[in-house]
Amino acid sequence: MTGRLGILGYPLGHTLSPVIHQAALKELGIDGTFEAWPTPPEQLPAALRTLRAPDHLGASVTIPHKQAVTPALDSLDAWASEIGAVNCIVNRGGELHGYNTDAGGFIRALKEEAAFDPAGASAVLLGAGGAARAAAFALRKAGVSRLTIANRTPERAEALAAELRRGRFRPEAVELDRDALADAVPYADLIVNATSVGMTGGGAADTSPVTAELISDRALAYDLVYAPPVTPFLQEAEQAGARAVGGLSMLVYQGAEAFTLWTGKPAPVGVMFAAARAAIKARH
Ligand code: NAP
Repeated sequence: MTGRLGILGYPLGHTLSPVIHQAALKELGIDGTFEAWPTPPEQLPAALRTLRAPDHLGASVTIPHKQAVTPALDSLDAWASEIGAVNCIVNRGGELHGYNTDAGGFIRALKEEAAFDPAGASAVLLGAGGAARAAAFALRKAGVSRLTIANRTPERAEALAAELRRGRFRPEAVELDRDALADAVPYADLIVNATSVGMTGGGAADTSPVTAELISDRALAYDLVYAPPVTPFLQEAEQAGARAVGGLSMLVYQGAEAFTLWTGKPAPVGVMFAAARAAIKARH
């Protein structure tokens, strides 16, 4: 098998995807390449036309294109249409098929990296952007009993909560402020940071969206942010005596699912973790 793969996004300075996927291609002896394809929005249509060429297997998709690509694709899988966002495109004979592997990658990370089963859990989700959407739909499917969505812009949290309401599942939406969080975070089994707060190079790299005194020592804190590996949020969780797990596991598992979609082969997850950890260590 040969072929070209890459990641479509803009800017792409922070991406670990080429490192992870190139290591996986090499491990399986696949004669392919995975490149960073920085693609400003005005170049997205041309990039998608190129992706239909026979030598292209597909692409990862990241900010700001996860929603913008959806109308240009020939089909969407169930997750992608439910969440309204695509993070993986597969080229099959010139047709582009869109998938969302963030949702499955997130749940696999909770179950395998953190040994946490969300079924029946009470969860607080911080953020209402693209990654939070995937996490929220995934948590509903995984059977959380209670979900509070907290966001700096409360209208976005409310809109997401309204989309998720189904039968007896009634997520709450609150503003991301201390008073609102004090009513939910101390009672949560699972606290997920899906904001970009704490991310290296982001606007709020040194801050945590929640402080230790609100976090229960029996909670799991999961941060979607993976750079730095131990974020301020995870430090607060550790200070509270809670378990703290970073987003590298979700990054690798969503990538592993995509790799299998492109190549038809089981992804060498251990090799992908090792490549990602080595790259992060080299950067920090
Ligand atoms: P996004 O769509 O731009 O959403 C950003 C979110 O962060 C929004 O909820 C935003 O709130 C909030 N936010 C940004 N700055 C804030 C601040 N200073 N204070 C409080 N809230 C703030 O981005 P995204 O795609 O959801 O990504 C979010 C994070 O998840 C990023 O760090 C990304 O690297 C990470 N991520 C990780 C994985 C993984 O595999 N581990 C996958 C996807 C994303 P407003 O709505 O108020 O703007």
